[in-house]
Amino acid sequence: MAKVQNPTTTTLGYALFATRWLQAPLYFGLVAAQGVYVYKFFKELWTLILMCLGGHATETYVMLAVLKLVDVVMIANLLIMVIVGGYETFVSRIGLQGHRDQPEWLSHVNSNVLKVKLATAIVGISSVHLLQMFVDVHHTSRHALLWGTVIHMAFIASAAILAYMSGPMVAHTDRGHADRAPVPPAQAGDHGSRQQTEPESERPPAAVIPPRSDPDADTEARIRAAGFPARKVLEDFDQQHPRGFDREALARLGKADFVDARRNVVFVGPPGTGKTHLAVALGVRACQAGHRVLFATAAEWAARLSDARAAGRLDAELTALDDHPLLIVDEVGYTPFDAATAGLFFRLVAHRYERASLILTSDRPLGRWDEVFGPSAPAMTDRLAHHAEIVRLDGDSYRTRRATSAWAD
Ligand code: ADP
Ligand code: MG
Repeated sequence: MAKVQNPTTTTLGYALFATRWLQAPLYFGLVAAQGVYVYKFFKELWTLILMCLGGHATETYVMLAVLKLVDVVMIANLLIMVIVGGYETFVSRIGLQGHRDQPEWLSHVNSNVLKVKLATAIVGISSVHLLQMFVDVHHTSRHALLWGTVIHMAFIASAAILAYMSGPMVAHTDRGHADRAPVPPAQAGDHGSRQQTEPESERPPAAVIPPRSDPDADTEARIRAAGFPARKVLEDFDQQHPRGFDREALARLGKADFVDARRNVVFVGPPGTGKTHLAVALGVRACQAGHRVLFATAAEWAARLSDARAAGRLDAELTALDDHPLLIVDEVGYTPFDAATAGLFFRLVAHRYERASLILTSDRPLGRWDEVFGPSAPAMTDRLAHHAEIVRLDGDSYRTRRATSAWAD
């Protein structure tokens, strides 16, 4: 059934969610703490240099001082992990995707990953401390040595337990990376292999989807279930390519709020300008925002709805589709429809009007949809466009542009 949300509850929820910004200053506070560590590092380094120059530095002293420096650096690393990872997980996306310095773990960071990373970082720091004690064993009491070892073991045990508990998630993340490895030839070497999709047949069976409690796994399951032809993300869309393109509209849509607002999106433009890319990318965002999504071409939707009507269950089918707050209808207009099929699309659009969202892509503007849907076009486009963002893409095909530039190279 449709996800009917009470506006008051939604507003309250949004208001609560907005309070996450209260955390933002905390992360900047940690940045200041990092500054303190930088100061401490150089102070230690300076002392070490002075001792060496003065000829007072024994080998043990140098080793201890260097270990202390390593210790400071490791704590600083820990800090950056908490700052960047915590901010990204709990406050707001930093949007580093594609940044050459993006840490490998940040693309799949969540509180689980963060916990394991922190635990292993703490084990690292405690190892350095223990090593310091052993290097300086003559000045360390047996009591301190014993407790140092016990505490270190406790850190190792807790890190192992945390890693074990997030096992399914880690396995999933690794699988996620492996999944993305096969890159369609047209995209190889273009944006890296992250976020690309394998053909349907190569997808791992649904059975390996990890437990439902993992938000990452849930998103992944929704993305798989959506039936996207390829995995495309907004970050990979070159906004400079289309001419006269409304970037602000796309930024707005990227938040996937339009799904909550039950609004529609129509991408209109000539072939190869990225309509399918953007429709899929918004679909992925909707999946990430927790919505179920279904993707198919207009011809596939026509077949599906025709079958349902033939079986006398068109209404049931439309109601069942309400389970999916977002449906994507790709390639509207590539094939004109007969009156009966056009009527089915009218039913689909009318059924979802102010109830759930649609994304449509078409090579022709809405004003010319009578060429596709015949006389039912005006009534349909009227409902469709009433709460819709129409995004025009103009310019040359991205496919041929790439072919031509490859040729020129
Ligand atoms: P359309 O659906 O408009 O015919 P597609 O979305 O299928 O076009 O785009 C064709 C190919 O070009 C896809 O691989 C898509 O990822 C890529 N592409 C199109 N426009 C862009 C763009 N502006 N930036 C990056 N890739 C693009
Ligand atoms: Mg397309």
